[in-house]
Amino acid sequence: METITKRYPSVIKEQAPLRPINSPVDLCMACGTCAAGCPLTGTKGFDPRKIVRLVLMGRDSELIDSKLPWLCTMCGKCEHACPMGINIANLIRAARGMVEREKVPGMIHKGVELGLKTGNNLGLPAEDFVFIIEDVGAELAETPGFSDFKIPVDKKGANLLHTLHNKLVNTQNEDLVHWWKIFHLAQEDWTIPSQNWEGVNWGLFSGDDDAMKTFIGRIVEHMEQLNISSLMYPE
Ligand code: SF4
Ligand code: SF4
Repeated sequence: METITKRYPSVIKEQAPLRPINSPVDLCMACGTCAAGCPLTGTKGFDPRKIVRLVLMGRDSELIDSKLPWLCTMCGKCEHACPMGINIANLIRAARGMVEREKVPGMIHKGVELGLKTGNNLGLPAEDFVFIIEDVGAELAETPGFSDFKIPVDKKGANLLHTLHNKLVNTQNEDLVHWWKIFHLAQEDWTIPSQNWEGVNWGLFSGDDDAMKTFIGRIVEHMEQLNISSLMYPE
């Protein structure tokens, strides 16, 4: 049998990357796979391929001034599907970040402002928040098998920090109970912070890097102060 002699080390892949990672958008071949995977394609003229094309053609202003960046949910399906590995959601987020803040759509803009000011996107004071979750917890304690259930608020040394999506506090309390039942039955050692409990980072969605860092920093601070190593993030 013929033996193949390895005369050269396998280094070409490292020395000549197949993709120029600094200009990934140039590699779009307009195949439309992203559009096929995007849940919003066709809604109000939205198409991720169109966004990539606008950027590729240097028509940034057109994109930034349009509603297109704000229709995206940032779900990432497009880039998961893209055969060229183009980071489309990041592209869209960059466009959002270039929009003047007062032109950011109302709900997102308000979410950032309230979140920065109050620690949650609902603007709930800590005592109201604790009242709501304790009330939901008390209801759960009336369920057979959960009579000893209590909400561990600001518990030092817990294993898991549980941050919340604001809608669970506002309108969908029953979804909180699902999590808490699992924690209880699994005997998880968890806790909820009484302040800055919001897990939705509107800074991420609005393209505001400073706000995003502030929101993340608060969670890191909780984990350090309460000495917690694991995080449950709802988004
Ligand atoms: S899937 Fe990727 S390569 Fe294809 S059109 Fe979309 S961005 Fe371009
Ligand atoms: S991240 Fe935006 S563009 Fe991509 S699939 Fe999701 S909604 Fe569509």
